[in-house]
Amino acid sequence: MSLTPRFVDEMRAIVGKDAVVVSVEGRMTYECDMHTFYKGAPDVVVLPTRTEQVRAIVQACRRANTPIVPRGSGTGLIGGAMAPQGGVMVSMNRMASILEIDYGNRCATVQPGLINLWLTNAVRERGWFFAPDPSSQMVSSIGGNVSTNAGGPHCLKYGITTNHVLGLELVTGRGEVVRVGGKTLDRPGYDLTGVAVGSEGTFALVTAITVRLTHAPEAVKTVLAAFRTVIEASQVVSAAIAAGMTPAAMEMLDEAIIRAINAGTGAGYPEGAGAVLLIELDGPRAEVEVQGERAAAICREHGALSVSVARDEAERALLWKGRKEAAGAVGRLTASYLLQDAVVPRSKLPHIMREIVAIGERYGLLIANVFHAGDGNLHPMICYDDTRPDELEKAKEANEELLRACIALGGSVTGEHGMGMDKAKNLPLQYADADLNFMFRIRGVFDPARLMNPGKLLPTHPACGEGFRPQRPRLPEGTWV
Ligand SMILES: Cc1cc2nc3c(=O)[nH]c(=O)nc-3n(C[C@H](O)[C@H](O)[C@H](O)COP(=O)(O)OP(=O)(O)OC[C@H]3O[C@@H](n4cnc5c(N)ncnc54)[C@H](O)[C@@H]3O)c2cc1C
Repeated sequence: MSLTPRFVDEMRAIVGKDAVVVSVEGRMTYECDMHTFYKGAPDVVVLPTRTEQVRAIVQACRRANTPIVPRGSGTGLIGGAMAPQGGVMVSMNRMASILEIDYGNRCATVQPGLINLWLTNAVRERGWFFAPDPSSQMVSSIGGNVSTNAGGPHCLKYGITTNHVLGLELVTGRGEVVRVGGKTLDRPGYDLTGVAVGSEGTFALVTAITVRLTHAPEAVKTVLAAFRTVIEASQVVSAAIAAGMTPAAMEMLDEAIIRAINAGTGAGYPEGAGAVLLIELDGPRAEVEVQGERAAAICREHGALSVSVARDEAERALLWKGRKEAAGAVGRLTASYLLQDAVVPRSKLPHIMREIVAIGERYGLLIANVFHAGDGNLHPMICYDDTRPDELEKAKEANEELLRACIALGGSVTGEHGMGMDKAKNLPLQYADADLNFMFRIRGVFDPARLMNPGKLLPTHPACGEGFRPQRPRLPEGTWV
């Protein structure tokens, strides 16, 4: 679809001339997120600075019956912040201020375009931080984190984004400004904050967010344990939790990833190990000392080849730099890969790791693994050679097989990245028809004209356009628990 010059003028009148992008080359920079398989440039990009402007944009789009696609930093991995049906992309990058820091109530209110790490940077000196820490936290926006309900390494102990959102200001698909939640606990009425978090722009544009601030722990200890195989390392994860430990983070990296990271960042992970576990403990100093020793002992009991502790903050920061830059380092292994984001109950990690090795062998593809082991949240990277026509198809098949294996073990189709275009088709693997239709109806309350981020999150049926009709290859009854 293309928009009329009159409509574009209306956008310019709302946000100003320098905040409207219509050139082809300008729009192309918004045609995809970090899942570059899914492409669709918007007809126009607008960059508002205030909620009032966002409301006026939505109302104009409703009059023109044109899709509205919200966008934060575009680091999503699901085909989310892109415009398969064209329309108006609302980029939140210029709504990036901290509106209030309220230490007394342990919270801050920010605009959605604020980069995640910038909030921690603003409160660090006073001993506070914003806990949700996706590995993209140096670039992803808090609005994007809220809309995808992002997780991260330290969410094992601190909880995912939804656990840190106290209130939201939304401009719904109806063009209304609505405030849900707030600073006080247990507000009357429905918990609409919980409903809106993770809605991937299909309900509303998030225009302000009140988030919980967390006080920084007194001490932090990072343990690095090397194992012969990923399966051995996986056994440690549920053993540590079953022993009553609550590490802040438990991250796993396999041999291929270790090689790539060491070459890329010089993080110094033990070469030759089949896998390493990065275990972080934080809290009161005395407790952290004891927990550190327990973690090391559990690793040794499970056959660790070596166990070491970061000696100072610089060493710890280097270990985490390696982990957080893992996605970039994979470029040393392959030019192309498919990234899966699925979950298994953590006790099933050894099973799924065996399955992943077997799938890789069956398809003749390298599958590299770096993931949030403590949450059972896997990120297998299925590497393929895009100069060979059959390899992409093989990688896609391996990817689907892997997803089904996770569901069969009682897992979930997504751990933290969300659904977007990529996973929408997989949702029926996990939910019954009645559940999906209920979700469609809720979407309709926020956005009756279904203009908000169309084609994302929920599966659509080509014949009906809206609402779900079964088209699933069903797994046996009782597979999903
Ligand atoms: C190297 C790398 C590491 C990553 N690590 C993690 C990780 O550890 N954990 C994790 O969860 N994710 C991770 N991600 C994925 C991604 O960073 C997160 O999903 C992040 O939350 C997206 O934020 P964004 O600002 O880039 O949002 P975008 O990609 O711009 O948008 C994401 C979705 O949210 C919607 N949206 C964005 N802003 C708004 C708004 N203001 N109102 C309404 N809807 C909105 C968009 O329409 C889209 O559907 C990683 C990505 C990369 C590239």
